[in-house]
Amino acid sequence: MLALLPKQLIRISALDDNYIWLLHNPSSQSLAVIDPGDPEPVLAWLDAHNRTPTEIINTHHHGDHINGNAALMARFNIPLTAPASESARISNITHAVKAGDRISIADYTAEVIATPGHTSGHVAFYLPDCLGTHGIAFVGDTLFALGCGRVFEGSMQEMWESLKTLRALPDDTLIACGHEYTANNARYVKHLGWNPPALAARLAEIDALTQKGEATLPVRLGDEKATNPFLNADDADLASALNCTGTPIEVFTQLRQGKDQF
Ligand SMILES: [Zn+2]
Repeated sequence: MLALLPKQLIRISALDDNYIWLLHNPSSQSLAVIDPGDPEPVLAWLDAHNRTPTEIINTHHHGDHINGNAALMARFNIPLTAPASESARISNITHAVKAGDRISIADYTAEVIATPGHTSGHVAFYLPDCLGTHGIAFVGDTLFALGCGRVFEGSMQEMWESLKTLRALPDDTLIACGHEYTANNARYVKHLGWNPPALAARLAEIDALTQKGEATLPVRLGDEKATNPFLNADDADLASALNCTGTPIEVFTQLRQGKDQF
């Protein structure tokens, strides 16, 4: 099932196709803002709900994920957690974190996972038990519904390794990504000629949501494992559909370059 939005998670549309995520802890009333690329829609939501954020979290240095930091920090005097590996490119970090760190986000335990590829210092944040029966991962621009981020700074191998790391998380993990790219990704997947068992039903669900103009995120990781080609570069059927006899990295490279030109 798509578009599961638990009450702790608030999805705010921003810019052209970004999502800014808010994570609320009902016990402590903490409220984290993840990747605020624009302060305006966040401030509008906070004002409308009479809420105050308690922290900002960044996954990587791109402007459409960090350009709201300064305004929110100035108004609310709140800390900023961001990867140390991007500290030269993100201003005013108060909590620089690195892969393997266990930190707190909205008073939930979070693990920092290195996910280089889209940018060299990109990280994801995995909160194993903040939703009760399952966790959530804020993955920035590493993994998208039926897609993955463009490889701007890292190598194809790094991106594939980052996606495999995310793939190792439990199936019920909710994936909160930085962009609504799903309809476009679905068109690309249809054109590949790869037909895993769960794909047709998933594409039908996505088409139905897209036609209604509804958000397709967050997604359940298990659905991505079953249908996202970028998480399946080591699947023999996908390699065969692509007519690629090489290694998973070569399959991944062909997939990613094909999408770049799609
Ligand atoms: Zn980005």
